[in-house]
Amino acid sequence: MNKRTYGKVCCVVNCKNTQNNTKNVHFYSFSMKPHKVEQREKWIKAVRRRNADGSLWQPNKYTKICSEHFIGNAKSEHPLSPSFLPTIFPPWYLKSTPSEKFVNSVVARSNEAT
Ligand SMILES: [Zn+2]
Repeated sequence: MNKRTYGKVCCVVNCKNTQNNTKNVHFYSFSMKPHKVEQREKWIKAVRRRNADGSLWQPNKYTKICSEHFIGNAKSEHPLSPSFLPTIFPPWYLKSTPSEKFVNSVVARSNEAT
C-alpha cells in the first residue's frame, strides 16, 4: 500500500482527474456502511464500469470518484437530491458501456501509479 498522499484517482473511465492535477475537486469514497448500500449501488450503476471479463465492476475501499460528476461539484447525502448520485458524464459515456479496452488502459495506468 502506498503511504504517500498520492493515490486519489477518479474511477470514472477516461476521467483524468487526480488529486494532484485538480483544484477544488473533491474525491469521494464509495461508502461501505450498511445503511448506505442504496447510495453505493446507485453510484456503481452510474459509473457503469465492467471488469475485463465482463463481470460487474465493484469499487474497493480505495476507489474514489471525483466531485465533477456531481451536480454542483459536491455529493449530497440526501436521497432526493440530484447530487445523491453522480450524473455528470461525457456524452459518449452514457450511450455505450465503456469498452474493455478503455477499462484495461485505465487499470494499467492505475497499476503503474502504485
Ligand atoms: Zn472524475
